[in-house]
Amino acid sequence: MTERVIIIGAGIAGLCTALSLTGAGRQLTLLERDPPPPEGGLDAAFHDWRRGGVTHLRHSHAFLARLRGILKARHPRLLARLLDAGVRELPFDGVLSPQLKATYTPAPEDSDLTIITSRRTTLEWLIRDYVQALPDVEIIAGAMMRSLIIDEKTTPWSVRGVRYERDGAHEDIRGDIVVDASGRLGGARDQLIAAGAPIACESEPAGILYYTRHYRLHANQEEPRRGEHPPGNGDLGFLKFGVFPGDNGCFSITLAVPEVELEMRKAIVRPEIFQAVTQQLPGLIPWTDPERAEPVGKVYAMGDLKSIWWEFAPNGAPAVLNYFALGDAHVRTNPLYGRGCSFAAIAGEALRDCLDAHTDPAQRLIAYERALRAALRPFYDNMLQQDRSAIRRAEHALTPGHKSSLRGRILKSFVEDGVAIALRRDLALMRHAMRAFHMLDPPDAWLKQPANLLRVAGHWARGRRANAAFYPPKPGPERADLFAGLGLDAAADLRPAA
Ligand SMILES: Cc1cc2nc3c(=O)[nH]c(=O)nc-3n(C[C@H](O)[C@H](O)[C@H](O)COP(=O)(O)OP(=O)(O)OC[C@H]3O[C@@H](n4cnc5c(N)ncnc54)[C@H](O)[C@@H]3O)c2cc1C
Repeated sequence: MTERVIIIGAGIAGLCTALSLTGAGRQLTLLERDPPPPEGGLDAAFHDWRRGGVTHLRHSHAFLARLRGILKARHPRLLARLLDAGVRELPFDGVLSPQLKATYTPAPEDSDLTIITSRRTTLEWLIRDYVQALPDVEIIAGAMMRSLIIDEKTTPWSVRGVRYERDGAHEDIRGDIVVDASGRLGGARDQLIAAGAPIACESEPAGILYYTRHYRLHANQEEPRRGEHPPGNGDLGFLKFGVFPGDNGCFSITLAVPEVELEMRKAIVRPEIFQAVTQQLPGLIPWTDPERAEPVGKVYAMGDLKSIWWEFAPNGAPAVLNYFALGDAHVRTNPLYGRGCSFAAIAGEALRDCLDAHTDPAQRLIAYERALRAALRPFYDNMLQQDRSAIRRAEHALTPGHKSSLRGRILKSFVEDGVAIALRRDLALMRHAMRAFHMLDPPDAWLKQPANLLRVAGHWARGRRANAAFYPPKPGPERADLFAGLGLDAAADLRPAA
């Protein structure tokens, strides 16, 4: 019997679910609250696509190598179409220090470490166009899920379908499985919780706000050449920054500001301040030079960034049957790590495996939740640890006279004078670290291998003077200098020492 799958949301997770489930004899219907993309191609999608359901649509996005690998292995025609349309591949050698790059010879497996990047509207437009042409997929646009149809006579309850609103009328659609890919804002999970389904949740703040501005290169200009300028991404503690090369002459810049930096948070949304910040950061100066590129549109700001993990079978007991959450509806992550879309794609693959392997609804959910925990949780936990330490660092920057503990100082030195230097000197270690970054290996496994740890310790032991040539250029000014350059009050958010 053909299974009917209803997918709530045709964002990245909904589309990834369709890519994973297609071709296995199931009938897939995606309900999407927003209208389809406007006519007029990729630029029209960027400027005019109304996407009230995805408020972060116009923030910088890149797909990690793990997601690219899934596309390459399972949907090579889609990957080819992305590249034909101008989506960029950023290869491994782009992250190498000048010293490593000078002697670098590509190994075949280095192509597994390629990122893909473009305006997110471009990625989504192209993936959607591909998905809706699949013979077993239907996308119903303008269809707002209003409620799940729940059978409360079973234990646990079973989801039987979705009630949605379209053009002012309500319709019911029934299915064997409902996939909730409605992102941060969708309400299906909340309906279940309000009705008493035992769904558990953990949440922590990401500790930052995101500010993105798009730029377009002038007709006769090219992107700054890699290696000729300081890196286009960096972390000053009180500010993180990154350039995202885009498609068709576009790129975007994202500045991430700690939540505690209230003065900067207020100011940076002003286009002239955003531009002035970029012109104080050596890695961004060549990109936003008015001779090279012009800004497009406003500064997009986004707060309330959280990491959230929902548990749909707490302690192995399914909370509800025939309902599978995927993407941000299941796990939200700090955008800085660029992992959300890869998490969604991995979950789509896991869902297919579990649906294929089991017919019993409870077994399916237990297997799915277990698979996600195994595949994603190590990265999630590693991210929480890093976020907690970044939050502390940002607070310390606002505490005059703050002194780190001895342990804190040693750890800082190990990271900055050991790990960071090793990654700029030792190609094999850099390959290991990037495999972890791209979620091809567990997050810390490379550093836990005794041989690798010894090599890092060796670089650390050489000391700062011997390693001097391997330190990266300073990514930007001190906090007080940056604020002074912007005409902002650097003392406004200072707090008394504890
Ligand atoms: C600022 C920012 C930057 C990010 N950068 C990156 C990055 O560089 N790389 C990366 O991998 N990840 C990144 N992420 C994370 C990534 O964007 C998300 O993980 C991803 O969008 C999740 O996809 P989703 O489909 O679950 O949710 P969404 O993309 O939010 O899509 C949800 C879809 O469901 C629809 N919908 C919602 N409610 C309903 C309803 N009731 N009925 C019908 N349809 C509904 C919405 O319209 C939308 O189309 C970033 C996140 C943020 C916030």
